[in-house]
Amino acid sequence: MNPNILVVEDEDALATLLQYNLEKEGFQVSLAGDGEEALIQVDERLPDLVLLDWMLPKVSGVEVCRRLRQRSETRNLPIIMLTARGEESDRIRGLDTGADDYVVKPFSMTELAARIRAVLRRLRPGLAEDVVRCGDIVVDRVAHRVKRSGQEIHLGPTEFRLLDYLIQNPGRVFSREQLLDAVWGSDVYVEARTVDVHVGRLRKALNVGATADPIRTVRSAGYSLDEGR
Ligand code: CA
Repeated sequence: MNPNILVVEDEDALATLLQYNLEKEGFQVSLAGDGEEALIQVDERLPDLVLLDWMLPKVSGVEVCRRLRQRSETRNLPIIMLTARGEESDRIRGLDTGADDYVVKPFSMTELAARIRAVLRRLRPGLAEDVVRCGDIVVDRVAHRVKRSGQEIHLGPTEFRLLDYLIQNPGRVFSREQLLDAVWGSDVYVEARTVDVHVGRLRKALNVGATADPIRTVRSAGYSLDEGR
């Protein structure tokens, strides 16, 4: 599974260079040219990490960061700030902006890729792993097998993708629209209530025996997979 990185950068040449090099490193890359577009794109499809330029037209990088941190769906979204030398104030050094890390321009692509991987490893440990655990649930992505409390769980392909997505972000609430985009793809037309149907099937499959329901329904917001419920 290739992590999806949203690159927010207003200098076209740098944005293109970042896209080329990050794709070569195995990331999926989307681009946003200003802060406003970045916020819209995050709403449409939640990336795994945002690479955010400090100086941006319309809405600044710091403001984008602040707004993302205020919302529950993006509160824990990994953010790396890009700054030019000289802009690197005490504020960003202390990461008061809410960013998880920062990289000072000019930087080497190798260094940037390493920093991205480090942040993802720290904040999204499930992303790169072949076997992911959440509480008593174990997902083996290579073998396409799921176990709960040691017992094999049989899931359809959609329920498997749904669980695989939720387990990467334990505790995070996803709206039906976000789940549709992530699991079905944004090009496919599926009604939002289809999500409810598949979440229902996943829940039924996972809730074997007397185990607690790991899927939390948040009224009018969406669903999350919680540890130790
Ligand atoms: Ca800039």
